[in-house]
Amino acid sequence: MPIQILPARLANQIAAGEVVERPASVVKELVENSLDAGATRIDIDIDKGGSRTIRIRDNGKGIVKDELGLALSRHATSKISSLDDLEAIVSLGFRGEALASISSVSRLTITSRTQAQDEAWSAYAEGRDMEVKLKPAAHPVGTTVEVLDLFFNTPARRKFLRTEKTEFGHIDELLKRIALSRFDVAINLRHNGKLVRQYRASATQVQKERRLAAVCGNPFLKHALAVELEHGDLKLSGWICNPQGARAQNDIQYCYVNGRMMKDKLINHAIRQAYEASLPSDQYAAYVLFIEVDPHQVDVNVHPAKHEVRFHQGRWVHDFIYQAIQSALHQGWHGDMEQYQA
Ligand code: ADP
Ligand code: MG
Repeated sequence: MPIQILPARLANQIAAGEVVERPASVVKELVENSLDAGATRIDIDIDKGGSRTIRIRDNGKGIVKDELGLALSRHATSKISSLDDLEAIVSLGFRGEALASISSVSRLTITSRTQAQDEAWSAYAEGRDMEVKLKPAAHPVGTTVEVLDLFFNTPARRKFLRTEKTEFGHIDELLKRIALSRFDVAINLRHNGKLVRQYRASATQVQKERRLAAVCGNPFLKHALAVELEHGDLKLSGWICNPQGARAQNDIQYCYVNGRMMKDKLINHAIRQAYEASLPSDQYAAYVLFIEVDPHQVDVNVHPAKHEVRFHQGRWVHDFIYQAIQSALHQGWHGDMEQYQA
């Protein structure tokens, strides 16, 4: 075969292999887009575990008509424009690939209206070259993305979809994680027309604890110890479960770095170590923790799915987290973080 440039759809399908694993991955990308657009309310409608329909509607800033086609193109993003931006990411997205990838493996329509526009427009990408078609539509300010028949044209992927219940379970779990990252955003989840979750926007401590209990359960809230430690550019806050309450909460391990959910080895290790003396080895620490760090100090461009980060000063972050957890566990500890300064 001669060397040739791949048709757009095929190139996008290859990229989709990295980030679009199942319906929950689609929901993650779309909800993150809504959050990046400043939405305060997000409605998620799922049919058949997401294999038939995933519809996400937000009240964010919308996309102007002239850019709707670009939104569906690969390597097109409004979130970064230079290496400097890439080195200090403040948005959840930045790769400019999600919409192009998802629309290459489904029937995707995006409908949007901005405040400055009188009417809304819908866009979808057709054929092997993914040529974008636009048509007028009705929609309030904000954006709706509808994804039908996920993987209909990639049978090998479709075959890996699990039961409706399993796939919906992944979506539900994902939205729990997101609900804890943005207490200020209202999130509603429907499955097959039925309202399954309703996370109300919460501002006060009482409202936040209500959401925490809705996601993590009342036992977690009952045994929760508040964590709060700040030093220079680094801040850790959230809740950890006291060791006595840890037994039944093995699966509550939520960690966020600058609002992004993480599964990070370094963070996990620091937490485990802090708990070491107080937890039997067959039990896991339960926690909901938020790390805020200068975006220059952390690299999020490590993996396409972005659930790993690399801290420039890993050792210092590790020790900081360790100290914060230790002091929360042994309340009353008033240590001095100066010694840990890098
Ligand atoms: P990325 O999020 O990495 O920029 P995406 O493919 O997810 O890439 O989205 C491409 C672009 O489309 C975004 O940069 C943004 O400008 C626009 N966009 C996508 N979803 C929304 C939304 N819900 N509201 C407003 N703009 C959006
Ligand atoms: Mg995105």
